[in-house]
Amino acid sequence: MKIYLKTYGCKVNQYESEKIRYNLLQNGHKFVSNYKDSDIIIINSCIVTAKSEKKNVDLIKKIKQSNPDKKLIVAGCLVEKNCIKEADLNINNDNKIKKILEYFNIKTIKNIAEYEKQTRAFLKIQDGCNQYCSYCIIPYLRDEEKNFDFNGIIDEANDLALNNYKEIVLTGIHLGKYDRLASLMKEISKIDKIKRIRLSSIQINEINDEIVNQIKSNKKVMPHLHISLQSGSNKILKKMNRPYSKEYYIDKVKEIQKKIPEIGITTDVIVGFPKETDKDFRETVDVLKKLNIHRVHVFPFSKRKNTKAYRMKGDIDNSIKSQRARIIRKLSKKLFENFVTKFLGEKLNVLVESSKNQASYGYSENYLRCKIESDIIKSNEIVEIKVKSYNSDKRLVITEKV
Ligand code: SF4
Repeated sequence: MKIYLKTYGCKVNQYESEKIRYNLLQNGHKFVSNYKDSDIIIINSCIVTAKSEKKNVDLIKKIKQSNPDKKLIVAGCLVEKNCIKEADLNINNDNKIKKILEYFNIKTIKNIAEYEKQTRAFLKIQDGCNQYCSYCIIPYLRDEEKNFDFNGIIDEANDLALNNYKEIVLTGIHLGKYDRLASLMKEISKIDKIKRIRLSSIQINEINDEIVNQIKSNKKVMPHLHISLQSGSNKILKKMNRPYSKEYYIDKVKEIQKKIPEIGITTDVIVGFPKETDKDFRETVDVLKKLNIHRVHVFPFSKRKNTKAYRMKGDIDNSIKSQRARIIRKLSKKLFENFVTKFLGEKLNVLVESSKNQASYGYSENYLRCKIESDIIKSNEIVEIKVKSYNSDKRLVITEKV
């Protein structure tokens, strides 16, 4: 059958779609890039923000209006919220992969050994979240927290290595809840063909000494951490139900940076949370300015039904949210410049992902997106480069091969 698969949302959703795609390919199905050419359409949905939910719903409506006879499977978080009447089959997150594959009469699920157009392989090691941050819908949409079997993960990493994947990104809904994270990184690093291991995102209070030591001493564990701050105001962090204070966040990040000076740290911030005053917002800006972070993803707060924050009073005007988001984006650009300046003339290693117009592109160990000028390098090669300059509008580091 010809299948169109559309994935929205987080790295966990992307991993799950890849597993579906890989198993369908192994069973003789084909994938098409336009839903009009397909026999079956699968949408692996995400509703983490109101904006993402709208994108999913708009696509479903568009598909059903223009192609009412095509079979449509809607899976994931959107279905957790409501059954989609336009869909021929609704599948929630509970055993999503198994149920979708069963629809195609596939009973045995294989580990992913090959990703589509990707040199970095996501490996899911954990599911679910019990933290219930007051703004977040995810705990209502996913299962209870669950760690995947240690040996099963190692088997999957071995399969990826056999298929020449050099970089593995460990993912989970609440990754830091995986209790043997440092041991897992250590064990995966013993696989000869795996050259790089990265964590997708981790909460500040879950970064223990063993994890920091792995990053510092294990050459295969990349010096990069994505640690969500969300707010620099203790009042707002408490309302968000985040289990740390701004002082804890600052001290811990500084401690990690002292131990691993080359580390790249990226973060998320929500602006316009209910009752976020100008003073609260300024505190967020101040925290970011204090830290040598190189990228800030900013999200204007959006209300999600059923969450605690949905019922909170003190809505912030959309124009103020946009203005605060603009300030953070501008600051993020400046932080990127400050960080990259330290590496001018330095050598880094880049895993090449793609090439275009006489240049190649990939990520450094500390997660800087690099353009390697005047060189077409085969994707999946790790090359040493020298940092020449940067383009902060594109968040791109301009380099040359050594
Ligand atoms: S830790 Fe908080 S933000 Fe992350 S998935 Fe759990 S509830 Fe959502």
